[in-house]
Amino acid sequence: QTGRRVLMAGNWKMNLDHREAVHLVQKLTWILQDKKHDYERVEVAVLPAFTSIRSVQTLIDGDKLHLVHGAQDISQYDKGAYTGDVSGEMLSKLGCRYVLAGHSERRQYHNEDDQLVNAKVQAAFRHGLVPILCVGEGLEVRREGRQVEHTVGQVQAALDGLKAEQVADIVIAYEPVWAIGTGEVATPDDAQEVCAAIRQAVAERYDANVADAVRVLYGGSVKAANSAGIMAQPDVDGCLVGGASLDPEEFAGICRYH
Ligand code: PEP
Repeated sequence: QTGRRVLMAGNWKMNLDHREAVHLVQKLTWILQDKKHDYERVEVAVLPAFTSIRSVQTLIDGDKLHLVHGAQDISQYDKGAYTGDVSGEMLSKLGCRYVLAGHSERRQYHNEDDQLVNAKVQAAFRHGLVPILCVGEGLEVRREGRQVEHTVGQVQAALDGLKAEQVADIVIAYEPVWAIGTGEVATPDDAQEVCAAIRQAVAERYDANVADAVRVLYGGSVKAANSAGIMAQPDVDGCLVGGASLDPEEFAGICRYH
């Protein structure tokens, strides 16, 4: 990697109540502390369900832990009659640094399209949150060999209307849908191909400095055992981890990866 700070983000999805969430954060930080984790080099983020964010925040602030936290979704609106939604302001008041936008499970089960994902990315920036924009192709597209075109298209749509300095701060997670929760991890070369194409697209649309700054993660069945190969790729700056982030030993192993 260049000067980009590695990010390992754990997407807990709809798992763990607030007590279990606190327990996992405690265990994870003990393990990382024991292994003398270098948080400056590798940032570690957890993304609990909304109902656990306040408990995780209290623990992180109270014990001055080096972890950061975020949320799995954000409303595109700032406030009002949107029953069940959670605004960016609410998340930033809970100390969130990151928020996922356009995770494939949101796209699939909640019909989120590129336009909505773009609105969510913009909402994140309005409230001082860093969006982790999730993109990636399904199996059909991969079989047709159109993974780069498809994924870069999602990125382009999600970046509409953003300023260069915002894009420099954004995190883009390449998550091939066929690799999420399936145990079927992309090869390091597969990950590098698309992550490099994303960075190239950012360079063409903005400039080389923005492309150099933007962090591109890989996600999809990452485990401690396969993280080193993925992280060895020059355009992969970290991982977005689902299932394996629920096991503190495993996630700590991913955070150490080498
Ligand atoms: C995810 O949910 O973002 C993800 C990558 O899941 P998993 O690691 O379980 O494949």
